[in-house]
Formats: sequence, C-alpha cells, structure tokens
Amino acid sequence: MAAHRDSAVGEQGSDGGRETEKPTEKAPVKKKTTVSATEGATANGSTRATTRESAKARGAAGTKPAAAAKPPRTESRTALVRRARRINRELAEVFPYAHPELDFENPFQLVVATVLSAQTTDLRVNQTTPALFARYPTPEDLAAADPEEVEEILRPTGFFRAKTRSVIGLSKMLAEDFGGEVPGRLEDLVKLPGVGRKTAFVVLGNAFGRPGITVDTHFQRLVRRWKWTEETDPDKIEAAVGALFPKSEWTDLSHHVIWHGRRICHARKPACGACPIAPLCPAYGEGETDPDKARKLLKYEKGGFPGQRLNPPQAYLDAGGRPAPPLDAA
Ligand code: SF4
Repeated sequence: MAAHRDSAVGEQGSDGGRETEKPTEKAPVKKKTTVSATEGATANGSTRATTRESAKARGAAGTKPAAAAKPPRTESRTALVRRARRINRELAEVFPYAHPELDFENPFQLVVATVLSAQTTDLRVNQTTPALFARYPTPEDLAAADPEEVEEILRPTGFFRAKTRSVIGLSKMLAEDFGGEVPGRLEDLVKLPGVGRKTAFVVLGNAFGRPGITVDTHFQRLVRRWKWTEETDPDKIEAAVGALFPKSEWTDLSHHVIWHGRRICHARKPACGACPIAPLCPAYGEGETDPDKARKLLKYEKGGFPGQRLNPPQAYLDAGGRPAPPLDAA
C-alpha cells in the first residue's frame, strides 16, 4: 500500500525502508513549506464570518461554492483572536470526532508510535506497531530487544535503523530512569532519545490529558495560510498560536487543524471550493475553487476513504468513519 504524505508528526512520505537520514524530531529533515501568495488579503472575522449552521449545512464535502473572504486591509489583534477562535469552532463542527490518528493503548505505545511517525504516515505506523507491541509490550522488553529484529519490524516505516535506535534508547531510559513508566512532564519527556517538544506535546495532550499544541507540518502550513502568525520556527508558532486560545483548547485545536490539513487544506492542492471555513480564510483561492473539482480533492472519510487508525475511537465509528486496513490487507 502506498504511503500518503500525511504524518501527524512528520511529513515526507515513507519510501518503504529507505535509510538515508536520521528522522528524529531532534534532527528533522527540512521540508519546503507552501505559503499563501495572497499577501494583504486578511479576513474580517467580525463581519464576514460564516455561521456554524452554514458550515454544517455545507459540510466538508460542500454543496455550494465556498464564498471568498472579503478582507479588510488590516486586522486588529481582537479581530484576529475572534477569527482564529471562530475557525476552531467551525472545524469542531466539521470534525466533532477529531482524535489523535496514532493507535495506542498506553503512554508507552504513544511515545513509541509518535517517534516512528517521523517521515511517514500515521497509517503506516498503525499498520506496523501491532507486531512491535505484541513482541515487546513493555519498555523493559523493548530495551532488551535484538536491534536487528526490531529493524525488520520497523522497516515499513522508513528510516528504520535510526528509529530502532531511538525506540530502544528511549525504552532503556524509561526502564532505567523512570521505573518503566513514561513521565508526564515535558522536561522529562524531551530527555528521551528521539523525543522533542512536538512529540512530548502529543504524549502529554493525548496520554496525560495535559494541554499541548502539536506544531506538525499541517499545523505550520495552515496557521500561516490563516495569518494567525508569520513565525516559521515551530516553538515560536506554538507560542504565537497558544496566545490566541485558552490553554484548555490547545489539544483539541491541534486535532482540528491537523485534520483539516489532512482532509481539505492540503499542501499542494487545497480544496478551497469545498472548504467550510473559506469565508474566514485569507488564502482562499490558493487551491481549487470549483466546488465539484474541489470535492474530488477531499481525503479520508470526507473523500470516502477510511481514516488512519486501525482501532479508531467509537465516536468516529458512530459518525460513519471506517477503520484503516492492516498492513497485509489487499
Ligand atoms: S482549503 Fe482554501 S479556503 Fe480552506 S483553509 Fe485552506 S486555503 Fe483556506
């Protein structure tokens, strides 16, 4: 099965076992980011904002052409905050079941899966980790593993030698320094091999219920398109966007933005004509605006395909979402 360029934590697409560059978060592979060309087009969140009802009516698949924002030349801080929060509310209506797209049953599985997701898709990680966790269910088991055996299991995720070093290394540290438990503090998590702030926030937000913003490739692209910030450094983006929202909303905000980036606002061909937040977006028109053509660009459940998790949350299944197929499925 071909991998999509769509990881929650890194995005370069798996190439089936290439092993040319260390993919860890602490030494990321640089990727060119597409930035809006609509300079000066700033949406007016106070007067042109779409309603929840209209967003629901259009849905992500869109039944009407999306209206372009009619932006003022400048946007006050207050208007920016209002528009940003409105976008988040609209996306919450479109993706009420948004969730982390890595399968995990405990913090250890999540930290390992997140490290493995660098430079590949969450789907490919989800298809790989069942075999890994069946053989090595605890940090102690993985710490004592034969690296060559782990490499063979991780081969489908790409960069499998570096990833093997990271997951065995972090398992050793968990076993030796943290009593076999994943720590629930940022300052401890970032000490683990292959774990930076991005991975740490994924773990804190989703395994410990502590608010965190996940600045992945989708998040970076979208917040710049929306002109929430002009920053390019992930830590500065995290701080700038965090200041627009209450802390309690950070984790869900991250899910909404990442889901929108994966399904509708793609890097190369955003589906503007099927976008429920078009009236709030300064970059409307950067992608396909014809509604019919735009609908064909939608991915995953909005485009009729399964999601990325083999074991998605019940709310997702209840909403009509479908589990992803296992690795050996036809
Ligand atoms: S799909 Fe188009 S209109 Fe929607 S958020 Fe992305 S750039 Fe803006």
